Amino acid sequence: MHAIDRIVTEVDRAAQEIVQLTRDLVRIPTVNPPGDEYESCARLVGEQLARHHFDVQYIVADSHEVHSARHPRVNVIGTRRGSHHGPGVHLNGHIDVVPPGLGWTVDPFEGVVCDGRIIGRGVCDMKAGLAAAVFAAEAIRRSGVELPGLLEISGTVDEESGGFAGVAHLAQIGRIARARTPFVIIPEPLNVDRICIGHRGVYWFELTTKGQIAHGSMPFLGSSAIDGMSDVLAAIRSELQPVLDSRVTAMPIVPEAARRATINVNGLEGGQRVDGIQTPCVADRCRAVFDRRFLFEESFECTRDELVALIGNTLRGVPGITYELRDLMVVDPVRTPEGSPVIGALAGAIRRVLGSAARLVASPGTYDQKHFARIAGIPDCVAYGPGEIELAHQPDESCAIADIVNATKVIALATLDLASSH
Ligand SMILES: [Zn+2]
Repeated sequence: MHAIDRIVTEVDRAAQEIVQLTRDLVRIPTVNPPGDEYESCARLVGEQLARHHFDVQYIVADSHEVHSARHPRVNVIGTRRGSHHGPGVHLNGHIDVVPPGLGWTVDPFEGVVCDGRIIGRGVCDMKAGLAAAVFAAEAIRRSGVELPGLLEISGTVDEESGGFAGVAHLAQIGRIARARTPFVIIPEPLNVDRICIGHRGVYWFELTTKGQIAHGSMPFLGSSAIDGMSDVLAAIRSELQPVLDSRVTAMPIVPEAARRATINVNGLEGGQRVDGIQTPCVADRCRAVFDRRFLFEESFECTRDELVALIGNTLRGVPGITYELRDLMVVDPVRTPEGSPVIGALAGAIRRVLGSAARLVASPGTYDQKHFARIAGIPDCVAYGPGEIELAHQPDESCAIADIVNATKVIALATLDLASSH
């Protein structure tokens, strides 16, 4: 039998094991925040990899602020040497999940199987993807097909909160590097027939308006910081929003509406606490946190300058109000280079397994690709994995078992193709 057919056969034979590993992963509630149960989840992945002939290493990101004895940031990475010299491939999945939230009709951490789907928090984002990566590697081994290049699989922490103690940490210490593995696939849930080639940029900032306190019965004697903030919010809606709506990226972001630049207010607080005892006072302080997503065609500098000018112009006309702007997080957009071998290998594997052409998409949000690209210096990185992105972070999050099995085949064939290339 041809190598490819042997690998596909081994994936089909392993279908029950793939389902079992996904369910076992879901049953460990690795909720972030705060970062529960990372160690037991990393061990589960590590023990499975060890059974599959990987050398397994646990890397604790203990230099990071979020690491604590109660919530240790434990990453796992498995390495399997190739038969001779071929390019290395790294498959990476994050082990953290967001809190379950309300609205579930089943236990979110039971790993329920119903109507050909696994249901639970983190099934699609992205424990099914991690299980697919583990069994893609195992199907190659069981098939007896020799993989020329090095193969690495990592389970990493904190992707949902920025990935700094996860992929970023492994890249900073040189454990993930282009010289080891020039190709990376992240099985995030972008659907079984789509390849995700990057994401928009992120600029989170905090704006504080400061006014003048006065007796609330004579507000004309003070300057309200809340009024100042509301002027800024109004200017964002009436002046900035139409400009942002007019900018459309050439990147194939899905959903379509996210091809435009966007801004969101994450939170707002001002004046005295609404729940506390009330006193008649003009608010002398108001703070808000904003989430601006910028396009590949916009630079961070222009994005920030535009906001600084808008806020400055708006508040210049308001007597008694000053303000302060603080950058909280900046992530530049990333895009896999056109014609990257990792896109070609996955597109070929999708055609073979599903009989259809792959669709290239990009993500409205951000994920760990930025750390692979910027810190590890690996441009040839994409996200490809089972599950529908729309179900991520939702109640009754689920993933079709057929998609998990197909994605496993696609990842296995693409890995073989990449590790055999020169
Ligand atoms: Zn994810």
